[in-house]
Amino acid sequence: MSLPRFFDRIADAAAPLLGGLDHGSLRERLERTTVTLVIDDDSTGHEVGYDFAANLLARVYPTIRLCGPQPLVERAARTITLINPRAEILDEGAAVDWTLRLGPPTDAPREVAVSASGWNVYVDSEPQDQVRAAPAAVLAAAALGVGELFRGVFCRELGDRGRHTRTPWGVNLVSLGAPSPVPEERAIGADVGVFALVGAGAIGQAAILTVAVQQARGRVLVIDPERVTLSNLQRYVLTLDSDVGAVKTELAARAAQGTDLEVAQAPAAWDATVLEGAEPVLVAVDSTDDRIAIQASLPAAVFNAYTQPADLGWSRHERFGEDACLACVYWPDRPRPDRHEMIAEALGQHPLRVLAYLAIGLPAGVALPPGGVPALPDLPAPPEAGEWTRRSILEDVAAQAGVSVSDLAAWRSRPLADLYQDGICGGGLLETRIGEVPHEALVPLAHQSALAGIMLAIQFVAARVPALREHRPVETEGRYDVLAGPPQIVGRLRDRSDNCLCSDAVFLEVYGDKFALKDGAAR
Ligand SMILES: [Zn+2]
Repeated sequence: MSLPRFFDRIADAAAPLLGGLDHGSLRERLERTTVTLVIDDDSTGHEVGYDFAANLLARVYPTIRLCGPQPLVERAARTITLINPRAEILDEGAAVDWTLRLGPPTDAPREVAVSASGWNVYVDSEPQDQVRAAPAAVLAAAALGVGELFRGVFCRELGDRGRHTRTPWGVNLVSLGAPSPVPEERAIGADVGVFALVGAGAIGQAAILTVAVQQARGRVLVIDPERVTLSNLQRYVLTLDSDVGAVKTELAARAAQGTDLEVAQAPAAWDATVLEGAEPVLVAVDSTDDRIAIQASLPAAVFNAYTQPADLGWSRHERFGEDACLACVYWPDRPRPDRHEMIAEALGQHPLRVLAYLAIGLPAGVALPPGGVPALPDLPAPPEAGEWTRRSILEDVAAQAGVSVSDLAAWRSRPLADLYQDGICGGGLLETRIGEVPHEALVPLAHQSALAGIMLAIQFVAARVPALREHRPVETEGRYDVLAGPPQIVGRLRDRSDNCLCSDAVFLEVYGDKFALKDGAAR
């Protein structure tokens, strides 16, 4: 048995949640753990959840025991092997640590039981109603179950946040309230029309998969300029071990093959002109700045999802100027540190030195030129500034991290901003623990990003299907803390932010004009 080759990324995500468990200890813990995935023989409609749970488990656990009907076990085994070719797959007889069951709970110890009925999902409880589950709800149940399994496996390290008892819970994913029957429970095969997805990363991939398994008919424009890196495999549900280097938008197209969802690809950076009428827009990007920029350039309904440490959330923004807009959610309530200050903190370097590299776009492996240290009244040069023209910043970053400069050779001829983006935020250097890990560099767990993407898709489908739409809550935002466990209050109110662009008279005038040009029915 062996951990996947992206283990370091798993450790980046899990270790900070587990009291800073070091990579070696985490490796040992995972290699000693066997998780079991079970599906009841009569769990019709839950097959897609079995395969999805196997997908998520394969991104963390090296030893997985599969129990259930033979065709399902064979398919799940294939899924696991394609994600982690070194995984060990066991059958019924082997010993058990923790079990994820798709179906009603049993008396077995160390078991998490999840199921779905209509748009309701149940954790550790028997469904009150027995209608066919919406496939999207089955995916959500699987992701919730994998999250509970994580809380169980690591209950000691997680302390209060671990899973120590069963707490039966159910929630309706459309109303975000208690389980309830919703007309047209399944909405399978609904026509969702044309829409766009910005970001085909961890959240975007789960969203596309959800719309596809829901058998929705429609056309989606997927916008993302990037290719898959090895560290992405830790939580990108559409990626296999062989996909490193693949174009992200192509993975979205592959996932929709054989479904009624047509995928158009825009492997380009975000730009409102790329849309060409593909609205509403599902936003699944990484950064706050990108989200604000998208709302600022977009007179269209927006659906959003995000992860933050131990938490995930989703929101809808359909009436600009009335509801909280997407920018309201992220509008800074205090001055944000400038980019050079964030990079300086992450790399453990002086902000003035970082600013100089950013200002002239100098490669990290080159020392500042003579006279290259700017003179700024509010940021005086420290005594050691003389050294900055003799040594490259890369040498000092390496020394600080306790690694040799040759370990960082890949960044020698690249701008300092890349070292921050790929090395810190992208995870390339995280293991070396340089300085403070910035907030935006914290890595979500696989099930966390997946659940965010699933909820992004469910919000969108619910908006497009009238029978579901009328059951939506007044709350335009939802949150789920993956380390708190059930039960949770999921729907959240979101007020508009003071001073946001949606309250700016000049912006509204321009925005209103843009909207009127595109849509005669606009305000
Ligand atoms: Zn706003």
